[in-house]
Amino acid sequence: MRYDLTIEGCFVVDPLNHLKEYTSVSVKDGRVAAVGDAGKALQSVSLSGALLMPGIIDVHVHCSDWIGGPLSFGMLAKSGVTTAADMAGPVQVVLRQMKEQGSGINVAVMEALYPGKTVNGTDPSLDEIRGVVGKITREGALGLKLIGGHYPLTPEASAAAIRAANERRCYIAVHSGSARNGSNLKGALDSIEFSEGRPFHLAHINAYCRGMVEKDPKDELKTLLKALIDNPHVISEFHPAPLNGTNGKCVGGVPESHITRNCLRMGGYPETEKGLKTAFIDGYAHCVGEDMNGVNEYVSGEKALSYWRSQEGNAICGFPVNDREIAFLCATAKDPKGEYVIDALSSDGGGIPRNFMIRYGYLLVEWGAWSVDEYVMKTSVIPSRMLGLTNKGHLSVGADADITVFDPVSRKALLTVVGGKVVYAGGVQTGSGGTVLCLPEGRDAAEGMGLGIQVVDIEQSMLYAR
Ligand SMILES: [Zn+2]
Repeated sequence: MRYDLTIEGCFVVDPLNHLKEYTSVSVKDGRVAAVGDAGKALQSVSLSGALLMPGIIDVHVHCSDWIGGPLSFGMLAKSGVTTAADMAGPVQVVLRQMKEQGSGINVAVMEALYPGKTVNGTDPSLDEIRGVVGKITREGALGLKLIGGHYPLTPEASAAAIRAANERRCYIAVHSGSARNGSNLKGALDSIEFSEGRPFHLAHINAYCRGMVEKDPKDELKTLLKALIDNPHVISEFHPAPLNGTNGKCVGGVPESHITRNCLRMGGYPETEKGLKTAFIDGYAHCVGEDMNGVNEYVSGEKALSYWRSQEGNAICGFPVNDREIAFLCATAKDPKGEYVIDALSSDGGGIPRNFMIRYGYLLVEWGAWSVDEYVMKTSVIPSRMLGLTNKGHLSVGADADITVFDPVSRKALLTVVGGKVVYAGGVQTGSGGTVLCLPEGRDAAEGMGLGIQVVDIEQSMLYAR
C-alpha cells in the first residue's frame, strides 16, 4: 500500500495497544494504516528521539470571543493538541472563528449559560434551559457549560441545567459557583449536590482549592477528592497553570466576573475597577495580548493596563492564584483501590497562553510521578472517553490519524497531525479550518459553515457509558 504519510524514528507510546517502542506509523485517507511498516509513502518524516502518541485531547480550552479568541486554534495546534473542548462558546462564534482562523484541529463546543445573554436572568426555569440546550445542540454544540464561578445562577437553576443536559443526552461541564456559594470548595460540593446523582464533568478541580474556605488548600483538596470518590458519576480534570484565566470587564466600577473579584480579594485589593488597575500596575494582575508572532502572551504592569484599556476591559486577565502543590497533588491522588481520582489533565488554555499539556504535563513523567503510559492515558486515552470519541486515543489500524509528536527533552511539540493531515510542523502552522465534534442534530449547522464534521455518539462518553 502507498501511504499518505509515514512518521519514522520516534518512540511510539500507545497504551491501548501495549505499544512502547521505536517504530514507524503510517496513515492513509485520514486513518492509521500501519504501525511498523515503513513502506512507500507520498510524504515521509523522520524525527529521531521524539515521542509519538495518539493525538493530545485537551478537554478544557477557550476559543470564543468572550475568553480565548481566534488565535486559540493556532496556539493549540502549536502545542500538540489535535482535539479540544471549548468551555464557554457561544458555538456560533467559535465555529465562525474556526472557519476564518482555524488550524485544522477538531473542536467540540460546550456553550455557557450566561445570564442576560443566553438565558434571561440568573434564575432561568427548567423549560427555558431545555430550550437553550435544544438550540445550542442544533447550532453544533456538543453540550452545555455552567460558568457559575464567573456568572452565578440560583441553586435551582444550576440543578435544572444539569438535569436538562442529562435529559437531552448532551455533554455537561460545570465551573462551580452559584448564588449560594462561589467558585470554591463549598461551590464545588454544591455542584455535586445539585447533580442529584446525574453525571457531569466538574471542571478544573485545582481551582476550588485556593484556601478560601479552609485555611490550608490541601485540606480543601482532601475534602473534594473524597467527594469525587464517593460520587463516581462526576468526571473531572485539573490543569497545571500558575495563572488563572478570567475576564477584566467592569460595569459600574466593579469587575463583572466574580472570579476577577475573588482574585482581587485574594491579593488584598479592593474588588473594584480601581483595585484591578492598581493590581495591573503592581504586577499582580496580568493581561493577555497578542505578541509579535501572532500568539497571545501574558503582559503585566503599565503594558497590561494599557492593553486592558484598549479592549475597554473586555480582555483576558490572569492572577497567580493556582497553588503549585495542589496541581501536583491533583495529578497523583489515588483512591483506596489505587486508581487515580481525577480523570484527566487539561490546560484551560487555548487562547489563554497556558497550553501546558506537554510543557508541564510531561514534567510529571520526568519527575517520576507518572509513567509515560499514564501520561498518554491522562492526555489522550481518558479524554477520548470523556468526549465519547471511540476512534481516537489509540493508534489501532483504522483509528482516526490524530497524532502528536514532541521532543521529550524540550517538551515542545514537533508535529501535529489531525485526520492524517499535518497541521503543525517545526514551528509552522500548516492547517486551516477544522472539524466540529457535534451531536447528530448539529450536523446541518456545522456543514453550513463549511467545516468538517464528526458526529459524536454521546452514549459512548464516560458521562453516560459508565
Ligand atoms: Zn476554563
